[in-house]
Amino acid sequence: MATEIQITKVLNGLGQFPGCTSCGCRIRFGDQECPRCGEDLYDELWAWAEALIDVVTDQED
Ligand SMILES: [Zn+2]
Repeated sequence: MATEIQITKVLNGLGQFPGCTSCGCRIRFGDQECPRCGEDLYDELWAWAEALIDVVTDQED
């Protein structure tokens, strides 16, 4: 069961969704490549999701 704190952390994390590392273009949710330059962002998305899950599952607070 998700707690309010966890939900808040997810919503905050969505604001840190990475842009294109190549041209800086903001990407839409669900995209795994840049709509402008075609850069593959899968690795960046993976790292973002991994970090977010660490934050959400952190039981310290
Ligand atoms: Zn790009």
